[in-house]
Amino acid sequence: MYGSFQKHLQAELKAIDEAGLYKRERNICSPQGAEITLQDGSKALNFCANNYLGLADSPRLVAAAKKAMDERGYGMSSVRFICGTQDRHRELEQAVARYFRTDDAILYAACFDANGGVFEPLFTAEDAIISDSLNHASIIDGVRLCKAVRYRYANADMADLERCLQEAQAQRFRIIVTDGVFSMDGNVAPMDRICDLAEKYDALVMVDESHSAGVVGRTGHGVAEQFDCYGRIDIFTGTLGKSFGGAVGGFTTGRQEIIDLLRQRSRPYLFSNSLPPMIVGAGIELFKMLEESDALHTKQQENVVYFREKMLAAGFDIKPTQSAICAVMLYDAPLSQKFAAKMAEEGIFVTGFYYPVVPKGQARIRVQISAAHEKEHLDKAIAAFVKVGKELGVLK
Ligand SMILES: *Cc1c(COP(=O)(O)O)cnc(C)c1O
Repeated sequence: MYGSFQKHLQAELKAIDEAGLYKRERNICSPQGAEITLQDGSKALNFCANNYLGLADSPRLVAAAKKAMDERGYGMSSVRFICGTQDRHRELEQAVARYFRTDDAILYAACFDANGGVFEPLFTAEDAIISDSLNHASIIDGVRLCKAVRYRYANADMADLERCLQEAQAQRFRIIVTDGVFSMDGNVAPMDRICDLAEKYDALVMVDESHSAGVVGRTGHGVAEQFDCYGRIDIFTGTLGKSFGGAVGGFTTGRQEIIDLLRQRSRPYLFSNSLPPMIVGAGIELFKMLEESDALHTKQQENVVYFREKMLAAGFDIKPTQSAICAVMLYDAPLSQKFAAKMAEEGIFVTGFYYPVVPKGQARIRVQISAAHEKEHLDKAIAAFVKVGKELGVLK
């Protein structure tokens, strides 16, 4: 049997490669950070990690993870409801709820699972899910697993959302779902206007704070803080894999009955292993750190402003951003690939994105700015951008 299937797979792989879409992985031989070491011993500056607060190699989190392992072992060998809940899982859930000012939280192995398991237990074919067109793949998959009627509105387009809400009056319950920050442009969902429309049209609101938590808002607590929407958002999902330490883990947090029902019915929670003690212990420490000080958030924000201003002054075209994501627009797809490759030769890791990841003619380099970056890192990256920009005729 495998022979003909193998030929089919080989053709698929070849087609991916010929379309220029084959993803090749680079082996890093150091902890994740602003400066990384590659397998050939060379060093690079990393501007494409989601390590927004620079905590991926935090000595304090590493120590907390080790301590938790010493005290509570390596793994749980169980799902939460059978024998996989330690006191500390509840402690971390309460820390998440405090951070987002919600009633309670529920942990998952990843935010992909949180989003995969949030809709199906709560909504039926009688209900409506109204989703932003640029929402994350895990939201799209989660919606697919649920029988609710689906509506899609153009990215952050409030007139289009209103149209969907009007049509969705036919259903019993409605929920509007949005990413807090959209990962390609770095734009922020207009939560205040979304919440206004939700009130007007009797809808629930859910936001995925994966890219916004730790970054957006006066003290980095996400879009609810930025738009002062506390009490108006029913469900938050998020990840421990970006600002919050960068390991793994996800969560859903929000109103008590919603969390209670997810604990009873959410399939990725019920049928997948409990988070290990090291992740939970480091997670608890992480929220302690963020409660003590928002210095990392402040530094991250200052770095974004610095980078943007220098790049604009150098003549680059950068999308307006309110997050850690800076999209340097090149528009041309082959140019974006060539640009990213030349940046790597200069020792700067950035990602080139082009169709179908972004719309046709909207190719770009995405730069992700972290609190781990020092001024000299930013200056080196800007100098490399200018050099490559001149070589490739992007800058005069
Ligand atoms: C990264 C991301 C996820 C996935 O998070 P994991 O914990 O890595 O599964 C989900 N939603 C959004 C918006 C993301 O950016």
